[in-house]
Amino acid sequence: MTEYSLIVNGRKVAGGAGTFAVLNPANEELVAQCPQATIEQLDEAVSAAQTAFESWQFSAHGDRKQLLNDIADRIEANAAELAEIVVREQGKPLFLAQAEVGGAIAWTRATADLEMPVDVLEDSDTKRVEVHRKPLGVVGSITPWNWPLMIAVWHIMPAIRSGNSVVCKPSGLTPLNTLRLVEIINEVAPAGLVNVVTGESGIGSGITKHPGIRKIVFTGSTPTGQTIMRGAADNLKRLTLELGGNDAGIVLPDADPAAIAEGIFQTSFLNMGQTCACLKRLYVHDSIYDELCEKLADVAAQQNVGNGMEEGVTFGPVQNRDQFNLVNELVEDAKANGARILTGGTPLEGKGYFYPPTIVADISDGTRLVDEEQFGPVLPVIRYSDVEDAIKRANGSENGLGGSVWSADTEQAHNVASRLECGTAWINGHAELLPYAPFGGCKMSGFGVEFGQEGLMEYTSAQVININK
Ligand code: NAD
Repeated sequence: MTEYSLIVNGRKVAGGAGTFAVLNPANEELVAQCPQATIEQLDEAVSAAQTAFESWQFSAHGDRKQLLNDIADRIEANAAELAEIVVREQGKPLFLAQAEVGGAIAWTRATADLEMPVDVLEDSDTKRVEVHRKPLGVVGSITPWNWPLMIAVWHIMPAIRSGNSVVCKPSGLTPLNTLRLVEIINEVAPAGLVNVVTGESGIGSGITKHPGIRKIVFTGSTPTGQTIMRGAADNLKRLTLELGGNDAGIVLPDADPAAIAEGIFQTSFLNMGQTCACLKRLYVHDSIYDELCEKLADVAAQQNVGNGMEEGVTFGPVQNRDQFNLVNELVEDAKANGARILTGGTPLEGKGYFYPPTIVADISDGTRLVDEEQFGPVLPVIRYSDVEDAIKRANGSENGLGGSVWSADTEQAHNVASRLECGTAWINGHAELLPYAPFGGCKMSGFGVEFGQEGLMEYTSAQVININK
């Protein structure tokens, strides 16, 4: 069995508090033991990162770009191993894990290409006013279990591209890929620039409260985001909070069910529905409701559910027991409230957290499955007859991550999309993230954005240099 280590100051270190087990969600067997860091090891990681920052903050942009491209090369060289670790600890099918690694490489290169120009606000005979962007210091990265490798890359790369250093803490459910990623990064990065400490009890809150950390980039649930925000107040850490979503999709009456069913299915069930910006509530006009429900159920029935390492599997398990139980609970509650299960609706028997793709019809707002983030392989389909009412119900959530409108008329769809209260509104699509477009939520889905120029700026503070000539 592979041994995994913390990476502190460029060195592999055993967990000071022993190890904990990481399980494979497809068979509940041990994947590997993960090191459990102590708070003292977190302190060492922060102080190594601080030392690395002292020189890295002054590094040339060309050197930083080179480092990111070197890291991308190293990830590429280890792509097969990383994808396999992701399948074994996260559960997704191999083709999806390969896409995750491919995305991580593409995002690293796209971040390398970003520029950090000096803005000149005035350059007259008497005065020159420049705005520079300075890195913040040590960045703490806290990541969830759904797209563990990709999200770690989303945090680490812009942080170091803009001159910061990093201490990462992956989810204890899927820590192994990030331990390996940081080991790979350290083959080419200066010691201490990127460190990783794993362990649940106290390490996340230790990062939150640490006086040596200047910013936290957090992706995870809204309640944890709120706890982090409270804990970060003492030294006024900057925060980027990418939190939960309960994205609505609105299907307008002119949409063609046959043309959109596959797209709606794939963007609702991406990663077994365990994606923050998946479509999670679908509002369908009465005139095409039955036809679209039938088509969605057909696509769901074609999925091949199984262990992600097996050939031909298109649909893996839910990542962990708690999430599996939550999905089951929400579907049972929907049934008890009169909803109709079109396909799926009961967990598969045997080992592993397998729940088949489930389409639920005749359900409405006010039911837990609609009102709460299910974060799993279930889509509630809600009937509406008035578009104004559908917009109101879509916006009736406290979340505001993404939303979508499905229609043959893109202008009409655009009008509806612009009225959705969310960070990204897609038309005839959903859950598509781009390395050049700012991504983030509003309302209880958090604040701050990732990706592109705006995302990079989140790791900096502005310094004005005001020259009287
Ligand atoms: P989670 O909030 O339970 O855990 C996320 C991370 O926070 C883990 O590393 C965990 O160990 C850590 N953590 C837990 N308690 C902490 C504390 N008190 N202080 C500091 N860190 C702590 O979330 P999860 O269950 O891993 O992920 C699922 C959630 O993440 C869903 O709500 C999903 O929508 C959200 N998510 C959001 C985005 C986005 O970009 N908006 C992306 C992916 C996932």
